[in-house]
Amino acid sequence: MEIKAYAIQKEGGRLEPYTIERRSPGPDDVLIELMYCGICHTDLIIGNNEGGLADYPVVPGHEMIGRVAEAGANVSSVAVGDLVGVGCIADSCRSCPSCDSGDEQYCEQGFVLTFNAVTGDGEKTFGGYSTHYTINERYVIKMPEGLDPASAAPLLCGGITVYAPLKRFGAGPGKKVGVLGLGGLGHLAVKMSKAMGAHTVMMTSSPGKVEDAQKLGADDVLLTSDKDNLNAHAFSFDLIINTISANHDVNAFLPLLMRGGNMCFVGAPQTPISLVVSNLIVGDKLMSGSLIGGMPATREMLDFCAQHNVTADIEMIAIDQVNEAWDRIEKNDVKYRFVIDLATLA
Ligand SMILES: [Zn+2]
Ligand SMILES: [Zn+2]
Repeated sequence: MEIKAYAIQKEGGRLEPYTIERRSPGPDDVLIELMYCGICHTDLIIGNNEGGLADYPVVPGHEMIGRVAEAGANVSSVAVGDLVGVGCIADSCRSCPSCDSGDEQYCEQGFVLTFNAVTGDGEKTFGGYSTHYTINERYVIKMPEGLDPASAAPLLCGGITVYAPLKRFGAGPGKKVGVLGLGGLGHLAVKMSKAMGAHTVMMTSSPGKVEDAQKLGADDVLLTSDKDNLNAHAFSFDLIINTISANHDVNAFLPLLMRGGNMCFVGAPQTPISLVVSNLIVGDKLMSGSLIGGMPATREMLDFCAQHNVTADIEMIAIDQVNEAWDRIEKNDVKYRFVIDLATLA
């Protein structure tokens, strides 16, 4: 079926109206009428071919919320009319140990991204800057009651990205968690860490963000540009969630971890970072990384957010404002996530 979308046609191009072909839903598929799609920085990285991964035309978008318009004969987890979400994962091998354990993001065959990827059947995936999405039931999540659908959209990528390491590394009462970088990921990490009961410290280099961090619920704000301030927090953090995607000096922050503490990377600088290894050796410290989350963890994260009333702070835009939104993301000028109202595309 023919679907309205916005695509970048070639390197250096802008997003413009484009018609795509989506498969009609098979017996295991769900056809979703999309309502909202968040704009994640990964859309820009791939759409602008920053990592050389773009396969044009690119229809970005991987934080999708909509209603089930059609459900195939075998579909049992959702029904027509249900509010559902789709994140980064459109498909995976469904038989490797990672898929078996519900960690489809670590599928040994590589998971199929919901945009700019190719499925096992050779079908190219087009993302959520479009009116409809067809996808296997396994990768669709019925949204829990009580979450505002527009501000919940960014949870499908940004939210699970920070929830997974907070959960895995034990954020909770009695723990001190630092969140490095206040953007789309950082603002959700502060809200979730706080909701988990951890003492949550926003770590930022901009004095202008102190008040914002407090509004988001941070117990404390650490201005990283101030050496005395850093020294005052030495050897005190159980966990630092590092959301910074620009190259930066991690050696300035490792001394803040307590013995056995862990810095987990969820933002990916495009160039190598340098490490003074003694910063790990002294104090038995760890560095780690985490990539989104599988379907069970994403369901759990959404339930957690519904229970604790956690959603993204968003700026809603119409589809024809999407290029301007991308320009503003490049300048870090958004608090904290753009969400496209896809009624403006329909
Ligand atoms: Zn993303
Ligand atoms: Zn697999």
